[in-house]
Amino acid sequence: MTAFDYDLFVIGGGSGGVRAARVAAGYGAKVAIAEEYRFGGTCVIRGCVPKKLLVYASRFRDDFEDARGFGWTVPEPTFDWPALIEAKDKEIARLEALYRQALTSNGVTTLASRAVLDGPDSVRLSDGTRITARNILIATGGSPQIDRTIGGHTLAISSNEAFHLPVLPKSILIAGGGYIAMEFASIFAGLGSKVSLIYRGEKVLRGFDDDLRDDVTLALEKRGVEFILSDRIAALERGDTGVRTRLHSGSTVESVQVMLAIGRIPNTNGLGLETTGVEMGERGQIKVDEFSRTNVPGIFAVGDVTDRVNLTPVAIREGHAFADSVFGGKPVRVHHYLIPSAVFTTPEIGSVGLPEVTARETHGSIDVYKTRFRPMRNVLAGRHERTMMKLIADGATGRILGCHVLGPDAAEIVQMAAIAMRMGATKADFDATMALHPSAAEELVTLRDKWTAPV
Ligand code: FAD
Repeated sequence: MTAFDYDLFVIGGGSGGVRAARVAAGYGAKVAIAEEYRFGGTCVIRGCVPKKLLVYASRFRDDFEDARGFGWTVPEPTFDWPALIEAKDKEIARLEALYRQALTSNGVTTLASRAVLDGPDSVRLSDGTRITARNILIATGGSPQIDRTIGGHTLAISSNEAFHLPVLPKSILIAGGGYIAMEFASIFAGLGSKVSLIYRGEKVLRGFDDDLRDDVTLALEKRGVEFILSDRIAALERGDTGVRTRLHSGSTVESVQVMLAIGRIPNTNGLGLETTGVEMGERGQIKVDEFSRTNVPGIFAVGDVTDRVNLTPVAIREGHAFADSVFGGKPVRVHHYLIPSAVFTTPEIGSVGLPEVTARETHGSIDVYKTRFRPMRNVLAGRHERTMMKLIADGATGRILGCHVLGPDAAEIVQMAAIAMRMGATKADFDATMALHPSAAEELVTLRDKWTAPV
């Protein structure tokens, strides 16, 4: 029998890799994990966590403004970007240390190095060391996509750099229509930058319910974000204020910064996959089955590198299920359905289940319940922004197929609705649930009238 250096070698110390390494070690496996940048991965270092901290910072603008309506006298507030970035970096460093500690205290060997595959049961570190392992887990995540067809694309930043800008840009053009583009548009606008968002489609946030897409666009417009839709960046060049962006339509935009948030690609480039025969899809993602197995026995992949549903809780669940299946003797499949998600714009989106269009296509008869209202806090604040809540129920069974919220605390509300939906809750179950008053979420259990499209 071959003697391997490790039972499991994990490439990538992000959400999926760290969870898999820890759980596998807990089952008694001898585990090593290699991370080429910082333990914690995208989510902790340059994704969910620093993003949410910036979101919080951007929302104080509303708090200062609204406080006046509640009797407070607030002196003109000022904002210090370097102070925010310093505080954020300190918190990220604290979390990174916790991740490392969680690994070492579980007996996992941590290697601060890039690792690439070197055959089906071995990896090579940057210093040339070759390590063999009975099982290899690829958890290398993804990176911001760069559109090299755009002339002067090196003048643009991605979300990676946005977290480390030395000064808050007076103006920024953000390209993209996904949640990362929208969130950064909202963050920068809240902090005081002049923001334009350019997207090639007619509507941002493809895949979300149309009411959310329309309402959030309107809300951000009212908050000063300029939307340039159905257009694309042709070229970037140095301009008077920073970067001059030439658009396909012929117009130009001048801004201090340009940020590309046009998608993310799986980190498989230069990973040595050709030495193993592991199959990839056309986006460079690693193809896996429901147990995160690749086509090569002993090689597995979880998280964004597999391009299934690219969210942290999904990567964590896949990593955990992998460890349970391979080292814990209990095969666990990960089901990629009813995954709640949020867009942390201000106002924010929380969404779970099917958008109306998809529900109609897949279920035929559906009932739609929808409300728009001014949240209580907004009245005294003199704010006219409205919350939107929507439930989509199967016409035959009443089972809730989709729950979509735009407004304060939407993410928190929808996380709870997702539990009910997983349990098969129907509209009648929502109706039978006593309201919690006064709250915004109570609207979800008091929606009585079916919404019919105006003719
Ligand atoms: P990652 O966390 O990306 O970890 C992969 C790790 O592998 C990285 O640390 C990388 O340095 C390392 N690595 C890569 N190649 C090698 C190699 N060859 N050798 C050694 N190490 C290597 N998700 C949410 O659920 N909610 C959010 O609000 C959210 N916000 C986001 C905001 C932004 C700006 C971004 C970019 C992402 C956000 N995400 C969010 C997505 C989330 O961060 C990812 O889905 C999650 O991090 C995926 O985990 P992972 O383990 O697959 O990969």
